[in-house]
Amino acid sequence: MDIVVNIFAYRFFLIQYPLPIFIIAYEFSIPVNSNQDLILASAPIDNLLNSSSKHYQKRRLKKALNNAQIAYDFATKADRKADSIRAALLLAQIYNTNGKYLGDTNFFPKAIKYIHETATAPETILTPSIRFQVELISGQIQQNLEQFQLANEHFQQALAIAEEEKVITEKVLALTALSQLYILLNQFSKALEYTEEALDILNEKDDKLLAEIYSQFGQIYIKKQEYSKSLEYSQYLLVISKRLKDTEKEITALNNIAIVSGVKTNYKIAIQYFLEALNKSKAIGYRHNIAHCLINIGTIYAHLYNYEEALDRYQIVLTKYQDILDDNTRVIIYNNVGNIHYTNEQPEDAKAYFTQAYDLAQQCNYQEMVAHSLAQLSRTETALGDFDNALKTAQEARIIIDKLGTLNGRQINLINLGDIYFREESYQEALNLTQEGLEVAIQLKDHTSEIRGYQLLALIFEKLGKYKLAFEYQLKYSQRKEEFAKIQNNKRFLHFEIKYAIKEKQKEIEQLTKENEFQSILLSKSDQIARQNEELLQMNEELRQFAYVASHDLKEPLRMIGSYTQLINRLYASKLDGDSDVYFNFITEGVARMNNLLDALLKYATIGHSEEEEKEINLNDVVEICKVNLRVLLAETETDIQIGELPTVYSTYSLLTQLIQNLLSNAIKFRQPDQKSVIKIQATENLEEHIISVNDNGIGISEEYLERIFVIFQRLHARTKYQGTGIGLSICQKIVKRLGGRIWVESVVDEGSTFYFSLPKQDME
Ligand code: ADP
Repeated sequence: MDIVVNIFAYRFFLIQYPLPIFIIAYEFSIPVNSNQDLILASAPIDNLLNSSSKHYQKRRLKKALNNAQIAYDFATKADRKADSIRAALLLAQIYNTNGKYLGDTNFFPKAIKYIHETATAPETILTPSIRFQVELISGQIQQNLEQFQLANEHFQQALAIAEEEKVITEKVLALTALSQLYILLNQFSKALEYTEEALDILNEKDDKLLAEIYSQFGQIYIKKQEYSKSLEYSQYLLVISKRLKDTEKEITALNNIAIVSGVKTNYKIAIQYFLEALNKSKAIGYRHNIAHCLINIGTIYAHLYNYEEALDRYQIVLTKYQDILDDNTRVIIYNNVGNIHYTNEQPEDAKAYFTQAYDLAQQCNYQEMVAHSLAQLSRTETALGDFDNALKTAQEARIIIDKLGTLNGRQINLINLGDIYFREESYQEALNLTQEGLEVAIQLKDHTSEIRGYQLLALIFEKLGKYKLAFEYQLKYSQRKEEFAKIQNNKRFLHFEIKYAIKEKQKEIEQLTKENEFQSILLSKSDQIARQNEELLQMNEELRQFAYVASHDLKEPLRMIGSYTQLINRLYASKLDGDSDVYFNFITEGVARMNNLLDALLKYATIGHSEEEEKEINLNDVVEICKVNLRVLLAETETDIQIGELPTVYSTYSLLTQLIQNLLSNAIKFRQPDQKSVIKIQATENLEEHIISVNDNGIGISEEYLERIFVIFQRLHARTKYQGTGIGLSICQKIVKRLGGRIWVESVVDEGSTFYFSLPKQDME
């Protein structure tokens, strides 16, 4: 099942901000009759347009359209050009949004038609403000039509007008529009630049514009995988959009929060937010987003092994929202549904879906999924006992997988081929294929294939007469199967929790909506900065006091306990019974440990509070310093440190030394007892950051602890086995965060760990 999960994870991001795909036509009915004309003759056009605008803002598109259309007809008849232009602009916007919500291209020509109306207007009516709107809306229409070059030209034109006229509101709108466009073009740094510029020029408190800006930040930081930042902005956005009753922005905020939670495997929260986004999307008829919320919810349920719930969501999408889906997404859904059926031991159904996935993937030339669905299809044919076809299909899959050079699907195919050869009694061939497949399965963390691999190897070795190996693999098979069942069960349980939590969330959201509660968040920008500075000063002061308390007030009584215990031991040991020595030792040990913990805590609290000046520092120099500091330990353990070429960054020696030394001493401490320890320090880079890795061949860390080890005082081993306070990695994390980077770890138990941290390049300036 895990292969699906891999693709899910990948689609998880893609699905959210898709380029619109449009297929089916949809018409509003606009009741216009002679009676209404009569009434309208006396109704002021202004009122109609204002009311239309209001409806549009709340995304009640039908009503908005109705009013704007009537106003337009009326103004045209009465030959009131300025009014008919205003109405035309509104109509263009409404048609454009409608097309986007329904995923229907037929609306865009209508939007364009109304925009063209402005071309016939006399110069006097075409004020800069009208020209600005024309450019902005035209850009948005082109963007929805995926004419990105044209969209860019329009937005740039809008920006130029705003700049010329020095209208800040318009400039912010143009900049955020450009930012959105660059997100669609996957140029996130550029998008970030535009949004930052928008924030810079916004000097007044204006919730509407702040919402535009936060919406961009929330999306960009997801794309840049800076999830905490995205979360922060999206939470602000949620509050502001609720106040403004801007449902579309609210949905964006909810989606963003859900995605970030999903990525951080907080599935419970992710589902709650997707559900909330789903409901809001339904309320405004945003079909496009309804479909994607459903897919994402299904995906999360599949992650949680709640196949029924997952299937349920996928089925709804396939029956009701087919028209919204682009082909690639459909291929993936077919594949996922097939996979669920396969796992549920319904090979007939599985086969039907894999065949559909294959056909469509072939049709839209999505090669990776062609290979993948063939591999799945063949596995299903094997399950159905159709070995001849299974072999043909698997061989076809193998050719494509090899050609693509990808791992995905490879493990399924190889193990399945092993299975087929085994049944044909070609045991040596079966052995080679299965072993190769098993390696890939382990690498991809595809537990299902891994377990199947062990089982198959046990059978093959038995046939080859190698009973000891057969026994070993049989054992491994049962162990892994049991472990996996446990994991699955735990995740399934989460399902009940989610149901409960959704109810709770509902209450919470109601409370949040209460006005004024978030007044503080909505302070104007300068207020906000002033307040933040104040908070910062206060925090520094608190920290200083804390450090003082930790180092003096807490350590002093500890010292007393220690001294008096020793004294009592000396004076009365002979009078107490035999075990008292042991007890005294416990106390002394506890005191020493507490002392160490306080020192470590102090160190943690005061990170980055030294007076040391930041400068350009080469990390190779830092590693040399660490080597000198650790020389005794290095010599004792005969550790081999291999150092690549490392970059120069802007920071202080004390921070960088603490960071790298902690990682190195952990790598040495957690070495394999019977193996020479080898540590490799290397650096790579991307456009924006340097990524440094510290790799060891030590005992490794099992998957479920990979995130937890960065939490303060978290340790995985008994103190008697490996000494430590559990604070080293939290210090590393704090340092890296302070330097604007991230830290994470990849690890395989019994093989070793690689700690990575990133440092942004712009800090060099
Ligand atoms: P400490 O080393 O004092 O226990 P850390 O915060 O430095 O505390 O590390 C937390 C835990 O993470 C360790 O107890 C250990 O279980 C695990 N760990 C850290 N580094 C490694 C490593 N290189 N290899 C294996 N496990 C590690």
